[in-house]
Amino acid sequence: MKKSLKDGLLFKLLEKVDVDLAEEAREGMCRYCGAKLHRGDFPRKPRGWPGWNKRYRFDCSRCRKRKTPPSVRFLGRRVYAGIVVVLVSAMMHGLAPDRVKRLRQELGIDAHTLRRWRRWWLEKFVQSGFWKGARAQFMPGLDKDTMPLSLVEAFGARRREGMVKLLKFLSPITVPGKGVGAM
Ligand SMILES: [Zn+2]
Repeated sequence: MKKSLKDGLLFKLLEKVDVDLAEEAREGMCRYCGAKLHRGDFPRKPRGWPGWNKRYRFDCSRCRKRKTPPSVRFLGRRVYAGIVVVLVSAMMHGLAPDRVKRLRQELGIDAHTLRRWRRWWLEKFVQSGFWKGARAQFMPGLDKDTMPLSLVEAFGARRREGMVKLLKFLSPITVPGKGVGAM
């Protein structure tokens, strides 16, 4: 799984998906007043995955309300790229403590952050409205005690295409106000 974190083509694919998601959001106009949207991107440099430097966002040209499209790169307000949060959390299942430590150190993630991610997947995510609405599409059902490893396996996300699909699946929860609780 770890090699996905250095996959340049995956990096480009995720960027392209975010551009498409942003274009779709822009075509929707302002949901409050129906006016056109202007680009209002803001700087974000996710840790663990260098190269990205902004999150797409739009501002209404009339009422100034913001519209943030879903993203396959940024998982809510977390400082790490979404793919890092998914992969590292998945890899922790079944990994011996010394190997977890090595992985963590290699990626520069502190122990506290990793514990928070784990709790988020195993407690908040599996109890979220998003997951409760989505879980029926998996047959057989996924093991919630091994999240997000069970998602990685269901989507075949050890491979590039599967990872793109998994991050697209998760993208609705990346919109501010639609998340499943702070991490
Ligand atoms: Zn508006």
